[in-house]
Amino acid sequence: MSSVILKSSADSFIKRKHPWIFSGAIGKIEGNPSNGGTVQIFTSHKSLIGSGSYSPTSQIRVRVWSFDPEEKIDKDFFSRKISLASELRKQFIDESQSNAYRLINAESDGLPGLIVDRYSDFLVCQFLSAGAEFNKETIIEILNDIFKPFGIFERSDVEVRTKEGLQPNQSILKGIAPDNLIEVRENGFKFLVDIKNGHKTGFYIDQRDNRKLISEFAKGRTVLNCFSYTGGFSVYALASGAEKIAQIESSSSAIDLSNKNFELNNLNPSLVENINGDVFEILRKFRDERRTFDLIVLDPPKFAESADQIQKASRGYKDINLLAMKLLNQGGVLFTFSCSGHISQELFQKIVAGAALDSGRVIKMIKQLTQSSDHPVSLNFPEGLYLKGLVCTVN
Ligand code: SAH
Repeated sequence: MSSVILKSSADSFIKRKHPWIFSGAIGKIEGNPSNGGTVQIFTSHKSLIGSGSYSPTSQIRVRVWSFDPEEKIDKDFFSRKISLASELRKQFIDESQSNAYRLINAESDGLPGLIVDRYSDFLVCQFLSAGAEFNKETIIEILNDIFKPFGIFERSDVEVRTKEGLQPNQSILKGIAPDNLIEVRENGFKFLVDIKNGHKTGFYIDQRDNRKLISEFAKGRTVLNCFSYTGGFSVYALASGAEKIAQIESSSSAIDLSNKNFELNNLNPSLVENINGDVFEILRKFRDERRTFDLIVLDPPKFAESADQIQKASRGYKDINLLAMKLLNQGGVLFTFSCSGHISQELFQKIVAGAALDSGRVIKMIKQLTQSSDHPVSLNFPEGLYLKGLVCTVN
């Protein structure tokens, strides 16, 4: 097996057991590792510390599979990790209520670069690292044996693949192809999901717990759901007695699907005002019209794709938060999120605080939110925490 020998400056990394080894931390490579192939990892003093997958084109040159020098990276290894991840979900996912959730959360489940989401009888995978791709056949076989899905679909149609020297891919890997829309349950609600063409793997399952929380705040309130996608937050708000809802979304097909989701859950469509447009513009229009709401949700797409976009993204977050704060009635509630991994919880709170100051309103934070528990974060891998949210009140 090929080996990488780390520089002595990588010692602290080894102690922290962070799963990424950057190219600059590698002193020497012995052998001729293939793209995604397994390499042994040695310290500068030549002591074996574990193994990982080699990615010659990526700045993240090695992703650690194991910090146990004895552990073999074979089919049993992947079976063990996948079973462990599944056992964890069983602790908090009630299948009778929710059958759309993340089964494997990459680095945080000890399987760097591998995402597996369950949508009812289908599994949807993303192979985001050379190592995950290299072991694809084995992984598919194990997933098929353990979960016996109708089909396993690949949604590796993402940009990060190119950094790993891989082409984007989207295809059926095993079993039957899913229908264009499949029905899933989430906290007892029904949703139609387009796993072939929808965003991410089809649905924002990371917001499941936060969508549930909105049920506690929506009764009798006028709601504005910004960046509404297929109506996730709107379904919960309507079902828990929201007076009416306006939702803003730039994708007309997502709005169409949200209407189907309202129907599927027997919710009254006459309570919904769909606005197919740009949130930045519509919030300004509402401000000029002096239109107000009791509850506003801001769940924008990732504004910062990389570290050099942090400033621009911060301005975007501040803009929409400031506008939303101005539209809230006295006693109103704001659910505000950022899913940019490059914006820390601390920075996000600062941005929202800056918006509060400029709004001239008295705003209190009553809760901090994060991604749902099926998106666990390994404490050795803080990068895994990407979704941040705040619930704020105006009074
Ligand atoms: N809250 C949703 C997920 C939102 S994802 C849920 O719970 O499912 C972000 C959404 O914002 C996407 O659907 C995207 O199409 C939409 N979007 C992106 N930029 C936008 C803009 N400037 N104005 C309106 N919608 C936008």
